[in-house]
Amino acid sequence: MNEIRVIHPDAFLDAIKHVENGEFGELSATNYEVHAFDTIPTPGYDAPSNFPECCDYHKKAYSMATQYLAKFPECCIKHSKLTTAHWFKKTQYEKVPIRILKALHHTEHNTTQKINHSDWYEDITEYIDYCIASFGSLPLGYGNPVGIDIYYNYTRFYIEQNKSIPDEKKQKLLTYLDGLTTIEQPAEQTDLNTLNDLYKKWLNAFPFDISFFQNSKESFEKSLPPLLSNKPAYNRYLKISKGKLITCKQLVEFLFELTKQMLLTVDSVKIAKEAPISDINKKTIELLNESLRLQNNLLFGKYSKGEMKYLQVLKKWLEYQKNYFRDITPYLKKVTETTPKGKNDIDTTINELKKKENLFWKGVPMSRVIDHFIVFTERNSKNGKPFLTKEQFIQFIQRGFLSCNEIPKQTLNLSNGEKGFVIKRFYEFFDLSVSQFGELNKKFKYINLIDNCFDNWNKKGIEAFFKPSKTKQSW
Ligand SMILES: [Zn+2]
Ligand SMILES: [Zn+2]
Repeated sequence: MNEIRVIHPDAFLDAIKHVENGEFGELSATNYEVHAFDTIPTPGYDAPSNFPECCDYHKKAYSMATQYLAKFPECCIKHSKLTTAHWFKKTQYEKVPIRILKALHHTEHNTTQKINHSDWYEDITEYIDYCIASFGSLPLGYGNPVGIDIYYNYTRFYIEQNKSIPDEKKQKLLTYLDGLTTIEQPAEQTDLNTLNDLYKKWLNAFPFDISFFQNSKESFEKSLPPLLSNKPAYNRYLKISKGKLITCKQLVEFLFELTKQMLLTVDSVKIAKEAPISDINKKTIELLNESLRLQNNLLFGKYSKGEMKYLQVLKKWLEYQKNYFRDITPYLKKVTETTPKGKNDIDTTINELKKKENLFWKGVPMSRVIDHFIVFTERNSKNGKPFLTKEQFIQFIQRGFLSCNEIPKQTLNLSNGEKGFVIKRFYEFFDLSVSQFGELNKKFKYINLIDNCFDNWNKKGIEAFFKPSKTKQSW
């Protein structure tokens, strides 16, 4: 790689500070020059004896190069600025003529060697790029790399006149050379810091504080937008990958598209349907906050026309979402109030209980327990209401069979003369456990179960009725 000579040390220190702060360190091209280097020929190269005085063609090129150097830096307006630059020393350029000739001859060699290879185009153009880089560069404003025009013109002439290069390939190479306008100026390069600032502005404007986007915030903060406008191509001779930086305009356009795509991922209608009301309230508050924040940004921030495009989309979007959630909330509240903890929820809970382990006695599966006692919610007492509501039933099961002792005892809904009938159902459960599930004959345990779960009677009162014969009525 080329050696860089910094001509404004302050600027260099500044760039290093940026790197330390985690920002891009980029030297502006006005602050440095890149030293030239000698090109190395590709394998199979033999310098002709007497080179560069080997033939008329090279003699002519060499004489042109030496004449050029004699005039330099008074050769053109830009180079003549060098005469007043304190860091300029002409002696550093003494090797320019021979460097030009070597680069030329090495290019000729590589071109004739590789023209029939399958990757001839990549190889030859990479070598040309390598030779161009070998001329180094002057700080911005001081003109082209010294001697590069001669290299360029002679290389073009060589390819154009060479009869051993097939016409089609010749055209491709000439088109490539003609497209190399960048050797005129290293300028027109986008500054990485400017791109970084544009991205930071977008990060700041985007409503990442809304819970829809919170999860993606970090990854966007850590990642960089695509800063190269083309796939970086590796140059085998320079041993670096080169890609062209995108322009500010391209980056802003990219951010505009990204904004739209991200907003499209939010399905507010689905959220309003599925989220609990407390969540909807939270989202409404977030939207109100972000909307205000964006309005403030718009009032006081400085944005380009391109940036305004994504800001306007954000502004509209926030407005619509905010209005939607605000409008729908009162209705959602009414719906929730009129459906008292949905019927479905209770049945789901009861079904869930069937899957638990029976801690009262594991010999009887919970599903059989529930199937046996669910009649308490299905049959009404003489007073027209069920013996247990479903909510009560759930609590009874939890306390009696799942050891949830923190759940209170229930009161069965009974009318006169129904005591025996209800206790009979427990007796039947005891009977079922003994006859079908191998339970031992432990009546007291089942009497305790009733006492433990209901506050209608004391234990003695229960014992007296814990018999099959107390009522003829059957469940
Ligand atoms: Zn020659
Ligand atoms: Zn010049």
